Amino acid sequence: SPPSFDAVVIGAGAAGLFCAGVAAQLGLRVLLVDHAEKVAEKIRISGGGRCNFTNRELDPRAPHKHFLGENPNFCRSALARYTPQDFIALVQKHGIPFHEKHKGQLFGDRSSEDFIRMLLAECAAGGVTHWQPCGVRAVRTTGDGYALDTDRGAVTTRSVAVATGGLSIPKIGATDFGHRLAQQFGLRVVAPRPALVPLTFDGAHWQPFAQLAGLALPVRIETGAKKERMAFDEDLLFTHRGLSGPAVLQISSYWREGTPLRVDLAPGVDLPEALTAAKARSRKLIANELAQWVPSRLAEAWAQQEGAWQRPVNEAGDKALQQLAERLSRWELVPTGTEGYRKAEVTAGGVDTRSLSSQTMESTQKGLYFIGEVVDVTGWLGGYNFQWAWASGFACAQALAAS
Ligand code: FAD
Repeated sequence: SPPSFDAVVIGAGAAGLFCAGVAAQLGLRVLLVDHAEKVAEKIRISGGGRCNFTNRELDPRAPHKHFLGENPNFCRSALARYTPQDFIALVQKHGIPFHEKHKGQLFGDRSSEDFIRMLLAECAAGGVTHWQPCGVRAVRTTGDGYALDTDRGAVTTRSVAVATGGLSIPKIGATDFGHRLAQQFGLRVVAPRPALVPLTFDGAHWQPFAQLAGLALPVRIETGAKKERMAFDEDLLFTHRGLSGPAVLQISSYWREGTPLRVDLAPGVDLPEALTAAKARSRKLIANELAQWVPSRLAEAWAQQEGAWQRPVNEAGDKALQQLAERLSRWELVPTGTEGYRKAEVTAGGVDTRSLSSQTMESTQKGLYFIGEVVDVTGWLGGYNFQWAWASGFACAQALAAS
């Protein structure tokens, strides 16, 4: 008869590795399978190779502050039961040095490999059986559990935990396996879309700004209106095709196709006031004056957009100066699209949280669990997505051991 396990975890990424290790250390016989050649490729490339593994500012009592999805509070229970501090304690136990960067973001000092080794060591400590590369061809129910057909043969198990992640970066193994499996068992999937992704603009309209590629500056960026309004104070990066940088990655998760972004390119500066004052005291070109408040490359490119802005500031009309101030502090632009899954850090949407228990991650299909990014829970940039992977994996492991 085929080998039998208490639980099969599909996907050896952040959520799957962590869940498998915890469940095995709670005494379960766990099989972990992944179709990719290398384990945890996304951890490897994360945080610029240093892995931003969690965020100290995460507040489990107010998850909607840093997470989105149809029910942004779904993640509350799991995040409260496995906190950033819990993961930090594990990292310290393994002697991995780390530091805080910006807004509570914690990164390894050396390399993401430290975290992969740690997770593999936790799996080994529990005696997890790890088959990789090994694809899963089919999952079907049996009388008291599941039978899986894998590249290494058939297995049976009481429970299945799906940790196959989102659709981002297909070239390192992302697939829609988890979404398809959910649908096979009649669970709804919230339409996936790229998130934490650079935004692109129409070629002709972008022409004046393409010369700014590589320029970064702090901005305030906004999208949506009224209750849907979302704003971030972060760095913006001009690229050849559009905009990127933390400001744009963050706002991209909230941006809806066809709607505008509003960017304040000189946050904290009262530009109408500052330009009026400049007019009274200076004979410099407008671009030179602007360079006090924004990078000079931007000032130059900006002034080039209108004839009325290409003159000494004392000769400029009041109206032209007001328009200039308005356009810099409230630059409104409509992206044509995103750079897509090829460049997206995460996938928004996924398995509908209404089909899942927020306590256990078990779906309405008994014995079938979903954890990590495959679920319709998406975090902000800054370590929130990994913390969700750890917390949902932990909740699932505890439930597997209790079932
Ligand atoms: P993954 O880690 O993606 O793991 C899914 C696993 O499932 C993969 O190993 C894959 O091979 C396997 N799999 C897929 N399909 C199948 C199948 N059909 N059969 C078998 N196995 C399958 N988040 C942060 O919090 N901090 C960061 O610093 C950060 N940096 C990032 C940088 C980049 C460039 C990217 C792309 C993402 C980054 N993220 C970061 C997001 C973070 O990596 C993910 O949210 C997180 O890895 C999700 O964990 P997961 O276990 O759900 O999925």
